[in-house]
Amino acid sequence: MTRDAMTAPPRQQLHQTYAAAVPELSVPWQADPPARPELAWLNEQLARELGYEPQWLHSPAGLALLTGQLDATGVPLAPGAEAPADDEAFTTAQVYAGHQFGTPNPQLGDGRAVLLGDLIDTCGARRDLHLKGSGPTPVARAGDGKAPLGPMLREAVVGESLHALGIPTTRALAVVATGEQIPPRQGVTPEPGAILVRVAASHLRVGTVEYAAWHLAEPVRTAVIDHAIDRHHPAAREAENPYLDLLRRVSEAQAELVAQWMLLGFVHGVMNTDNMALSGEGIDYGPCAFLDVHRAAAVFSSIDRGGRYAYGNQPGIALWNLSRFAETLLPLIDPDDPDASVEAATATLEGYEGHYLDAWARGLAAKLGIPVDPAAPPGERAASHIEPRSSPVAPAASSGDPDHLAAIRALGEELLELLESQAIDHTGFFRALTEGAATSLFTDPSPFRAWHQRLLDLRGSGPAADSAVAAMAGANPLYIPRNVHLDAALRSAHLGDLEPVHRLLEAVARPFERRPGLADLEGPGDGGEDFLTFCGT
Ligand code: AMP
Ligand code: MG
Repeated sequence: MTRDAMTAPPRQQLHQTYAAAVPELSVPWQADPPARPELAWLNEQLARELGYEPQWLHSPAGLALLTGQLDATGVPLAPGAEAPADDEAFTTAQVYAGHQFGTPNPQLGDGRAVLLGDLIDTCGARRDLHLKGSGPTPVARAGDGKAPLGPMLREAVVGESLHALGIPTTRALAVVATGEQIPPRQGVTPEPGAILVRVAASHLRVGTVEYAAWHLAEPVRTAVIDHAIDRHHPAAREAENPYLDLLRRVSEAQAELVAQWMLLGFVHGVMNTDNMALSGEGIDYGPCAFLDVHRAAAVFSSIDRGGRYAYGNQPGIALWNLSRFAETLLPLIDPDDPDASVEAATATLEGYEGHYLDAWARGLAAKLGIPVDPAAPPGERAASHIEPRSSPVAPAASSGDPDHLAAIRALGEELLELLESQAIDHTGFFRALTEGAATSLFTDPSPFRAWHQRLLDLRGSGPAADSAVAAMAGANPLYIPRNVHLDAALRSAHLGDLEPVHRLLEAVARPFERRPGLADLEGPGDGGEDFLTFCGT
């Protein structure tokens, strides 16, 4: 490492935009200094995007940043320097409430997370830097505020995978092992502790607004909602009713997000309202998993005993959460007429289903190689401050021939029934279809052949069909963090070998491109049928 890399100050100035906008919803708080911090993984590409030199992040000052050891102005502390007292800290702990498994919880947290601050990245977008597992905060309900290495690496892998698949998501900048052993969540073996350094468009959750609505004076609710508009949906300001328009935009962003999860076979696992971000990014990947065999009722989380957050329930649950969000907006939508507010919010939420079905049909068309009409111009779409990127999975839009899209949807529904009835791997099927090898997956291929003929009819022929077929390889991944492979990699990490996690991260970062030496990561692996995850979020 060069001397410059050791001594150069970080290029980035951290801000506390959120705390300045809504001081009532966070407290200054200093992260615990970790015992022996060591980088378990650094996301070099994301570091550069944020304006940090990866080499600098390896230095003592970089590690101080990544563990929240900042002075009262947000500058990394020199080794041995005294940290500010908690009430003078630059960093903050955010409070929120939420509905957990359908039940309101007046105060959830954040009990183990510290917001380092926000910065403007090299693309001009404002991003939060946040630590999870950095010790208990004053808004903790209970618990030690620590996090185990396995679940933090899991969140990092899942975030990278979803990002590479073109899906809005929070991401990990780094996972830092703290050098501590923490009590096990199951069994008797202590687990290595870790901090996840998370990057997000913001940490505004439905549960954040619920907290303000349930506990604080009216101006705070308005302030946090105004902050959400400024930060994620500034175009809503121009609408006749900005709060109603915010609801529409958040609802459309969620419809698009969940449609993309469904197309990929992704199961979030804990879609509580505190785990739904107003930015439209997926957040808090705990007991999440990807389907192997396609199954609408698939549940992988040990805590989801009733199957509320089963794969097939996700579109409906997102709408349920949006309804809770809408309730927090009612006094602002029409302050003088509660009935008119309810009516307007209900009408807005009625748009969710159509938007979801449209996004799902378009994404499915991309996966099946069926041409669809071009997407609506960007001005028509929900603006958000998530970094701009093209989605290879679901070019979301609201235009297109409705009959054509309806026919695609019907074909898709038929396909999913077929996959489920013959216990076919979700991701494996779409890739095999891309590679012209799907028939051999079916024990009884005749219904598939009939379905395939309908696909060919819908696809048609000509240049549009040819290019849709050629684009299938960029819509149907080879490498996703399959349950068995991810679990095996996390077990190795627990035992001190990080190589399998790094290899999996490499694989999922370029999910569409087959590379030598990664064949074992393509399929579901053995023994994943009854996979269950015990991760907290
Ligand atoms: P989650 O289930 O992770 O979405 O978390 C719900 C709330 O529980 C969040 O505010 C967390 O910060 C909090 N929480 C989870 N684990 C711990 C822990 N070990 N110590 C303190 N708070 C925790
Ligand atoms: Mg959470």
